[in-house]
Amino acid sequence: MSTIQRAYKTELALNDKQTTACRKHAGAARWAYNWGLARKQEAYQATGASPTAVDLHRELNALKQTTVPWMYAVSKSAPQEALRNLDHAFTHFYRRVQLKKQGKLRGKVGYPQRKTRKHGLGSFRLTGAIVVFPAAIQLPRLGRLRLKERRYVPTTAKVLSATVSEQAGHWYVSVLVEQEHVVPANSGPTVGVDLGVKTLATLSDGATEANPRHLRSCLKQLKRCQRAVSRKQKGSCNRRKAAQRLGTRHRTVAHQRADTLHQFTSRLAKTKAVVVMEDPHVAGMLKNHHLAQAIGDVGFGEFRRQLTYKAAWYGCQVVVASRWEPSSKTCSGCGWVDEELALGERTFACRNPKGSCGLVLDRDLNAALNLAKLVDSSSDSQNACGEGSAGVGLTAGVKLPLVKQESNTV
Ligand SMILES: [Zn+2]
Repeated sequence: MSTIQRAYKTELALNDKQTTACRKHAGAARWAYNWGLARKQEAYQATGASPTAVDLHRELNALKQTTVPWMYAVSKSAPQEALRNLDHAFTHFYRRVQLKKQGKLRGKVGYPQRKTRKHGLGSFRLTGAIVVFPAAIQLPRLGRLRLKERRYVPTTAKVLSATVSEQAGHWYVSVLVEQEHVVPANSGPTVGVDLGVKTLATLSDGATEANPRHLRSCLKQLKRCQRAVSRKQKGSCNRRKAAQRLGTRHRTVAHQRADTLHQFTSRLAKTKAVVVMEDPHVAGMLKNHHLAQAIGDVGFGEFRRQLTYKAAWYGCQVVVASRWEPSSKTCSGCGWVDEELALGERTFACRNPKGSCGLVLDRDLNAALNLAKLVDSSSDSQNACGEGSAGVGLTAGVKLPLVKQESNTV
């Protein structure tokens, strides 16, 4: 028995008054975030040091008495948590700068940006006295809000925080709770998972996870909506309406993607004892990203994040091949590396000059098999996935990529 943290997200059924109150809270959070960002930039340019969330909150409390009295109308945790988010944004930015320096990052480093209403009203997080009822939730300042789904959020667990967010006119609450949890015994097999080109994933046991079909048709509609928006005159009423329709479409697609990914990661964590995957940073650099649509926007990193926390719940181990190794170019039969294998070639055929082992295999399956083998062969030489060992390096001379044990604490 151990305690775990888990979030339950569900839709709110708000009346007009409550919607207004939520908009005010989201506005206060947004304002605090932008104000904090500006203050951090100012202070950094003036002194070279940047104030923390705690400093900023103290400063903001003083401001409430003079410049922003309207902030008294919202719960104090909305701006406070927004400032905390800002601190996290900077932490991530520094982390990504480091990754970029090490050449492990393809994308942008993500310097924290101002929040605008252009991409939705955003969200705010509340802490303190939060009570969950079967069909409602009581939040500080906002009172009792109705939930659309009954009995989804546990009523007895200890609530740590609640985050209210808006997307395309719908409001949601995500309740973070701490609950008792028993990790079940997991006696499943070891599998390698190759993510993403055309199929969502290929497992080393031969199973594939297809990209759902409804997603493709939805993406088509998404493009049509997008074109409709760009044809409308800027600033016009029709453009606003078209943008609203586009937002709704985006919401549907986002939900479908999230659903597919969540179901897949849950299934893996529940039925496999060890899952070996590529380092998402590396995978992202090697792969043709736009083909992997179901993972698409959320990225390989999201797959890893979900799999890691679910693995901890269901007694599964996640092993990440942390150094670049040509998993798709290596023959899973004899270990020969095909340097000439092009990205478009869908089949791997062994052409080992020292004698081919005769392997002809789907490219992704071959890659998945190589990943699965990392654990098998490394546990021969050294116990690479032993309990609690993090980032085990293999002994020199053994030509195997480094494997990293994901931390099983949430
Ligand atoms: Zn071979």
